[in-house]
Order: sequence, then C-alpha cells, then structure tokens
Amino acid sequence: MVAQATEPLLRVWGLCKHFPIHSNGFFKKQIGVVKAADDICFDLQPGETLGLVGESGSGKTTTGRAILRAIEPTRGEALFTLDGKTVDLATLPADELRPLRTRMQMIFQDPFSSLNPRMTVGDIVGEPLVIHRLAKGQELKDRVAAMLKKVGLKPEHQPRYPHAFSGGQRQRIGIARALIMHPAFVVADEAVSALDVSVQAQVINLLQDLQGEMGLAYLFIAHDLSVVKHICDRIAVMYAGKIVELAPTAQLFAEPKHPYTRALLASVPNPDPDVRMNYSLQGEVADPGNLPPGCAFHPRCAECFAPCKEKVPPLETLADGRTVACHLHGGTQRPVTPR
Ligand code: SF4
Repeated sequence: MVAQATEPLLRVWGLCKHFPIHSNGFFKKQIGVVKAADDICFDLQPGETLGLVGESGSGKTTTGRAILRAIEPTRGEALFTLDGKTVDLATLPADELRPLRTRMQMIFQDPFSSLNPRMTVGDIVGEPLVIHRLAKGQELKDRVAAMLKKVGLKPEHQPRYPHAFSGGQRQRIGIARALIMHPAFVVADEAVSALDVSVQAQVINLLQDLQGEMGLAYLFIAHDLSVVKHICDRIAVMYAGKIVELAPTAQLFAEPKHPYTRALLASVPNPDPDVRMNYSLQGEVADPGNLPPGCAFHPRCAECFAPCKEKVPPLETLADGRTVACHLHGGTQRPVTPR
C-alpha cells in the first residue's frame, strides 16, 4: 500500500474527451458527440499503481492518451506535480509540454507492432535519449546497455532487430524504451494482454521490480481484473466513458459495490473445475455515441429500478472511502420491488 503524499503526482479532474459526429453531406454538420471519456476524476500518488479496467470501448485507453496529451482533451484538468511544481498537462502549451514528456511515458499493448522492425534494439531503446539530446556516442551505448540489463535482456542484444525476439522479450524492449528517460509516471496500456499467461507473470513481476527501484507511478490499463489484482494498489472501473467505481484493490475484490464491477468479477475465470462460473454480464457495452438515458449501464443491469432509467448516477464517496456511481448506493432510495 502506498502512503498518501500531501500532493498527488497526478490529479485528474473532470477530464473529458468527446469526439464530434458529423453528417455526410457537403456542410458536414455536427449531429452528435461520442463521449469516449467523460468527467474522469482520480488522484495518483508517487509510486502508486492505479488500475483502469473495463470492457473494450469503455474509454480506458482514451483516458490514458488524453492525460499524456497524445490526444487533446476536450476539457478538464490533469495536474502533474513534480519537484514541487504543478502544471496542468491538459492545457500546457506544446513547447512547455515537450521537456515534461521525458517524465511521462507509455508502454503499449502490442510488442509486435509497437517496435520499428527496421531499427536495432539499441536504436529503439536509445531513441528517446537521442531525440531529447540527453546522450550520444559511448554514453548512449552504456545507458542503453544498463537499461537492457535492468529489464532482463543482455547488452549484446543491441545490434539485433525486434523479429529475433519472443513476445515477452519484445515487451521488455518496449519497457526499456519507456523507462530509459527515468519517468515518474507511466501509462501501461494493456501491457501484458498480448502475452502468454506465463510470460504475463514475468512482465508483471518486472514492472513491479522496476517500480520499487525507480519509484514509478503506473496507470495500468487492462480489461482483465485477474491481471490488475496482482499489481494495483487501487482500481478504477470504467463503463461507457465514465468511472463507475474506484476503491483499494482488496476492498474492490472483497466487496464490489457497483453491479458492473460485480459482473466483471463474476466473469473472471476460476481455475477450480468444481466452481460454476456466473457470467452475469449480458448484452453489448453501451455505445458512447448513443448512450441510453439515465445510468448508461441500466439496459444490462439486473438491479435496475425506476430512477436508473431517468437520472445519471453521480460519482459519490461512500462512508468506507470508495467512490461509486450507482443509485443503489447514493441518495436515491431503492424501491422494495425491482423492475
Ligand atoms: Fe444498476 Fe441502477 Fe446502479 Fe445503474 S444506477 S448500476 S442501473 S442499480
């Protein structure tokens, strides 16, 4: 468990990324909006790992990319505090953002397509240092060699090309490239999803070791709750572009409050063949361009009652400290008979 610092490393507040939908005609009028990430709020402490989970299309990757300004947020704040100085990543001018990019990095999902097949491992890992003019010549080679060792590869691997490595080794190369600038904050976007289960465990252990060594804070994006359980201090569950529950990992697994969290947990495969799986999550994930009225989860929710179809549940903090967006846990009284 990470101790609460006085100032979080990252404070995300009301962050939105909306994509306009235009008509096909000559005038291309705006006819709607896709709320890919909507009113996202959370804190991230130095050295902490926050998991961001949900089905495909829930807005996890959009949130991570909007924080890093890989895409422009529509509105909201992403306050990043480093060396006693706080800046808003969401609105910082490009020339002031560029030097900060060394302290915020991203590890991508697919180790096969995220590495340039025409570059050697040495060039791939050393590229950020070259771009930011932080090292050259022998110093560059030495720093790349040291980073490769840190991620469990060999300095002799520098002249080889990515195709000569396995999936797990390629992900190690991607991690080395992300960490060579000694970032404070890393977005790991489905970083282990494309790997075999045994390799997943190795890469997760590596990420944890590097976190302890380098004091990194991770935003760990994944669709699989069983993966985030082992690495995250807290977990935020997203549905249709919004966070619907945020709680410490142990609390979320022991007593999930939101029906969507409960359904996701019920869908996690159990290795015991005698345990009957309960796939309670039916239907398609809501379309963020055409959300149902009220709670976006209501067409799939077994506990839906009248107010759910009319009122969007606000994200509220409960007595135990977690935050949940569900009328079952807010001020609205649940009727005796559900729908
Ligand atoms: Fe289900 Fe209603 Fe809660 Fe939405 S607000 S998750 S529909 S109980």
